[in-house]
Amino acid sequence: MRHDEPHGHRFRGFFHNVPKHIPSGYVDYVKLNGLSVTPDMVRDGHLDCMILGESARHDGYGTGHLYRDIASGKNIEVELVMDDIPYRASVTIDDIPKAMMTVTYDTVTSIRAFINDKSTDKPALYSGPNGLPKNGEGCSIIGCGEIEPLFNHRGGSALNVGDRVLLNGAIGKIIRASTEDDDENRFIQIMADIHDMDPRYMGGFTTPYGPMCVISVATMIRVDHDHITRELVVSDMGVPLPIIIRDNMVPKYWDSYGSVWPPSTRISVDRSRCLDCDECSADRLCPMGAGPSAGPDKDLCLSCGSCISNCRGNVFSGNMGHITIDGKITPVRIRLSSREKAEELCELLKTQISNGDIAL
Ligand code: SF4
Ligand code: SF4
Repeated sequence: MRHDEPHGHRFRGFFHNVPKHIPSGYVDYVKLNGLSVTPDMVRDGHLDCMILGESARHDGYGTGHLYRDIASGKNIEVELVMDDIPYRASVTIDDIPKAMMTVTYDTVTSIRAFINDKSTDKPALYSGPNGLPKNGEGCSIIGCGEIEPLFNHRGGSALNVGDRVLLNGAIGKIIRASTEDDDENRFIQIMADIHDMDPRYMGGFTTPYGPMCVISVATMIRVDHDHITRELVVSDMGVPLPIIIRDNMVPKYWDSYGSVWPPSTRISVDRSRCLDCDECSADRLCPMGAGPSAGPDKDLCLSCGSCISNCRGNVFSGNMGHITIDGKITPVRIRLSSREKAEELCELLKTQISNGDIAL
């Protein structure tokens, strides 16, 4: 089970919209809610296009936010140009007959802590908008420790092509999976229908390199050998946490997930400290639009800690955990994964299996 964000370049969606007044032919460009997407053609009144994960507007609105808006049933503004003629349409998910999302995630990028060893804050993809704090004074983390499906995916034995999964709450399936030969970089690629997704599991982080999508995945592990049973009996303390210097993918230090997943990850709010800033940076940078300044919407909140780091009034607090490097304690500043949401999705999957709604 895991709740996590994919990395933009590995996140794709396919849309077929119905802007009825547009003739068939090649499209010059398309924007959805102001985001540039990859156009194909209009055929029989249907627009085909592909949305890449790294698409972003100048104000930080990115693919993750667009997908959440689509799954929420909100109006999506479509702008396209064909033969120098501009067209506009406003559509909702009900106007989109086919809307598929594919996501790939892997052990190289999705199970990590990131730090900065320099004397100034440095940008990193896996950090908040201002980069990673200087001199290892803070880190970001990604990965759900003991409930991480890829940690349990030993030698391609547990997750296979065709297996059913939940992607943002929708029943999907694995369309690619690593094999024993890929043991250093285990991965799965998943596809599911956006119509069936729950927007509470979707959103977008702001990073120095633009938005990153939030997606949530729960998988089933086929327990058909004793050795898999043994591998599944792990605790956070037993799951190694590689520590990376900024965007370098080679681990320089190690800790364990037991250090970064405390028993409670909930964020507390003390409204009496609020300075009523002209623009609330905690609200603006919340990846889920959970409105932390008014008390975060618990249904949406990922307990990521962004509001703690981005509030001038110290309104927010929570146990964020820490890593230890050569005896020096480095606090976690932002969690790019949500253990709470992952466990919630795990319960949903278990219920669906019990009800017979989903099977291997
Ligand atoms: S950033 Fe913090 S202090 Fe400023 S308005 Fe938002 S909650 Fe209040
Ligand atoms: S911890 Fe704060 S910033 Fe993160 S999702 Fe919750 S309310 Fe939003």
